[in-house]
Amino acid sequence: MKITVFEKGFNYSQDGPGNRLVYHLSGCNMVCPWCSNPEGMTKSGKEYDTSEIINEIISSEPMFFDGGGVTFTGGECTLQAEALCEIIDSLPHVSFCIESNADTPDFLSVAKKCDTVIADFKSPIQERLKAITVGNLQVIESNIRNIEKSKHIHIRIPLIHSFNDDDESLQGFIDFFSSLNDNYDVEILPYHEYGKEKWLKLGKEYTVTDGFVKNETIKKFIDKFKKNSIKVIKT
Ligand code: SF4
Repeated sequence: MKITVFEKGFNYSQDGPGNRLVYHLSGCNMVCPWCSNPEGMTKSGKEYDTSEIINEIISSEPMFFDGGGVTFTGGECTLQAEALCEIIDSLPHVSFCIESNADTPDFLSVAKKCDTVIADFKSPIQERLKAITVGNLQVIESNIRNIEKSKHIHIRIPLIHSFNDDDESLQGFIDFFSSLNDNYDVEILPYHEYGKEKWLKLGKEYTVTDGFVKNETIKKFIDKFKKNSIKVIKT
């Protein structure tokens, strides 16, 4: 089976616990204008046979220290779910993690097989989510709710001014998190422009002009989350 990857390499504790071999898979079903890996939004990348990836993981095992392993991210890695499941099933002793937008029909089938699941929850407001990222809130909520029943999930909010840092969004986040079991934590990732140069190099327009979030807003989110017994961290 084939799998398309646009970047790979080791990373320590940024993409799951410990030292991890991180595969960035090509293609994404969302079009977030702040994406830090815009080169991964298309389907182009290097095609590998899954057996090559399996062999590469086996030969990298001595590097998986401090609870490390393999992370699949993107783009949106679960768009290549069949290949991922084959790799994960072939290596039951290896710790796998996915970083996902949780907005695909195959999210659950891959997430269930992983030791660590990291998923974005970008906005609790359907119209806004759809207009900016083409995301489907119903699918995202259902995926997070279902995986959270059986497995701890680390939820990431990319906090972006004029998209999701207003009071209506804050209340929507609280309502959704409060409706879950207690099997999750939330990480707030304040807006940054690490990807902006890449957009420009690709000849694409970078359309976010007012994304930075005030420190007081971040504090307000953290305080309100804590007040509502939502376990939250800020990076
Ligand atoms: S879901 Fe992630 S990878 Fe896809 S466009 Fe949005 S930020 Fe980029």
